[in-house]
Amino acid sequence: MKKNDTLLDSAGPNTRLAHVGNDPHAYHGFVNPPVVHASTVLFPNAEAMEKRSQPYTYGTRATPTTDALCAAFDDLEGSAGTILVPSGLAAISVPFLAYLSAGDHALIVDSVYTPCRNFCNTMLTRLGVEVEYYDPEIGAGIEALIRPNTKLVHTEAPGSNTFEMQDIRAIADAAHKHDIVVTMDNTWATPLYFRPLDFGVDVSIHATTKYPSGHSDIVMGSVSANAKHWPKLEEARITLGICGAPDDAYQILRGLRTMGIRLDHHQKSTFEIARWLETRDEVSRVLHPGLPSFPGHEIWKRDFKGASGIFSFILKADAENMKARAHAFLDALTFFGLGYSWGGYESLALQVNLSDRTICKAPTDGAVIRLQIGLEDVADLKKDIEAGFAAVAAL
Ligand SMILES: *Cc1c(COP(=O)(O)O)cnc(C)c1O
Repeated sequence: MKKNDTLLDSAGPNTRLAHVGNDPHAYHGFVNPPVVHASTVLFPNAEAMEKRSQPYTYGTRATPTTDALCAAFDDLEGSAGTILVPSGLAAISVPFLAYLSAGDHALIVDSVYTPCRNFCNTMLTRLGVEVEYYDPEIGAGIEALIRPNTKLVHTEAPGSNTFEMQDIRAIADAAHKHDIVVTMDNTWATPLYFRPLDFGVDVSIHATTKYPSGHSDIVMGSVSANAKHWPKLEEARITLGICGAPDDAYQILRGLRTMGIRLDHHQKSTFEIARWLETRDEVSRVLHPGLPSFPGHEIWKRDFKGASGIFSFILKADAENMKARAHAFLDALTFFGLGYSWGGYESLALQVNLSDRTICKAPTDGAVIRLQIGLEDVADLKKDIEAGFAAVAAL
């Protein structure tokens, strides 16, 4: 289907991003795939219909547009199959529903994306799954938490908001001794900076809302599984009637083409700002796994090929003035918008709420401020942050 698979396999990341997915010559030579809007797909005769003997059978199953994006993800992740879902959160909940049943036990990293915890503590618990949170730095020690009914270990590295690293290989090895499926939310690194399946993970999850989209205008998720775990994932998608919309799939594929150069820029600017923040008196600590001062740095250096554009820092404050200082800082920002999500071209800031944590509790040395460094010029972003510090000092 693709141009020349062997050539592509040995190509660099940006070459791959430019050529993965669709084959232009499969559709009249147009460089991009068509956006196919479909429910009904017609069959030429009753026998073809009975045997479903054609590539496309119904709009919810697949279209040339969604197939192009899934093929791109399979190439980037090294997976056997990928499903598209309507959001990054659904990219977590759908595989959990695929692999877990009543009576099962699931181990979830404590630094997990907050809405994942909400799904686990409400719907998953209601369906009879026992959920237990574990320390992100547990490594091979996860084996001590495994019970006879443990069926899934969920990882996310770096962790949401506080960026704890995980020894993914050690966790996957321990889980696989007990035939447990290992899932990983790989949104932060994207497949360019970390390939979970190469480290033993079975199922890699992305909020493609973030860097693959890159423009803050799409919500979509992807789930990519290895050969062993692909059939159950595909079956769950079909059973639940979940599918990716064609216009969104098209936009995500479009975003992937430039993701490498965007990430490169995000990475450079983010390192520059993170290192500068480490020198500031207003800052207690910078939570960025690419900094040698960060506790998980050695794992990041060993396993990851790069760092994206989101990290946090701790704005010095006492318990009593934490909120006032955080609000003064945030309200003085101009280029940094106050908003959720990330991965777009524009910078964002927020005060992190860690009240849901049971193991990795909120730091006490100040307010945790999360920054997404966009594609703006670093000098302008620094000026903006300085204005934030000045507002804090003026309190
Ligand atoms: C944003 C995010 C999600 C959810 O993505 P949505 O498309 O916003 O639902 C999942 N995991 C991580 C790590 C995220 O940052």
